[in-house]
Amino acid sequence: MSIVLSIVDAVIARSREEGAEKVTAVELVAGRLSGVEAEALKFCFSAAVRGTLMEDAELTVDVPPSEGLCEDCGKRFPVDFHYARCSVCGSFRVTIVSGQELSIRSITLE
Ligand SMILES: [Zn+2]
Repeated sequence: MSIVLSIVDAVIARSREEGAEKVTAVELVAGRLSGVEAEALKFCFSAAVRGTLMEDAELTVDVPPSEGLCEDCGKRFPVDFHYARCSVCGSFRVTIVSGQELSIRSITLE
């Protein structure tokens, strides 16, 4: 919930800077490993924006695929967990290269 509030604050600050009257759409990116579920995000968002200039904003949450990089064989592969095992050589020395992002991709103002 606090994550959602900080996103809402950031969007409102941005729209004030731009002199917008309202926010009509917000697009977020929430990686599978970001710890934030898209559905939970939408639910919290609708509560957090009530009474603000982004009350009617349409929220889109993009969930990009998460990917790990094997430090031993260099293979990249999709992962579902933070502690992944290389699908090629079996190594546990895997670095998560994507899927942890949680950010605002775009804001549409009016
Ligand atoms: Zn490997």
